[in-house]
Amino acid sequence: MNKNYINKEITVFRRKLGLNNIVVEEATLLNILQNDKYYIFYDLFGRDSFSGAAYKEGEIKFIIINSSQSKGRQNFTLAHELGHIILHDKNIFDLTQENVKLEKEADFFATNFLMPEHLLKMEIGDFKKISKMDILMVSQRFRVSFEAALYRLLSIYGKRNMPADYGKIKVVDVISEFNNKNKDNYDKEARNLASSLKIDESLYYPDEKMHYPNNIIKERSIRKYKNEKISFGKLLEFIKFLGLDPDKVMAALK
Ligand SMILES: [Zn+2]
Repeated sequence: MNKNYINKEITVFRRKLGLNNIVVEEATLLNILQNDKYYIFYDLFGRDSFSGAAYKEGEIKFIIINSSQSKGRQNFTLAHELGHIILHDKNIFDLTQENVKLEKEADFFATNFLMPEHLLKMEIGDFKKISKMDILMVSQRFRVSFEAALYRLLSIYGKRNMPADYGKIKVVDVISEFNNKNKDNYDKEARNLASSLKIDESLYYPDEKMHYPNNIIKERSIRKYKNEKISFGKLLEFIKFLGLDPDKVMAALK
């Protein structure tokens, strides 16, 4: 799957969601998705557990986000899972140690969906040299982790233009699979920087949100699902695998 293809899919998807040429705010995105047969759950799965998972069957899409991870990461994870749903044919994602190629594609989708190059340049301008403050600004403006913003700027402006500390950084393709050591370091760095500049730090902390999609339009009852031929067996397996309470999930869907 080439990058042009993914970028085209992103343009089509953004247009479909009514998000053409605007920065995606997570609350807006969540609202739009929830009205489009996406069932999005936030729950605490622990800091070192998976970031997220997705399940789709026909038109029904389930996305689970681990809210034990920082808020910025959760936003990226949501976009990553959307990438799987839009781009890939498989039913269940991110449950087992998976295909690196698919992960890279989902990350590329997430990065470009949340931070399209033209929007980023429109918001931030054409940098000559990127400062840490710029990285923090991109992270704040596009509601992603410091690390995701760093890699995005690196991919557009090149290593030469990054702050000295990051001059030796290795460009990794797969952000969501990144090593946990760096992940914590970046969150810590972002918190320190934000705190010294008196900027909101909440993006770099877990919000530990528990959210079940019970705000879904009532008519979409379990019966409706059945009419749409979702296989409950598979869905239940998925829910149990994630350690969610099936009764709670089913209640939320009613
Ligand atoms: Zn994935």
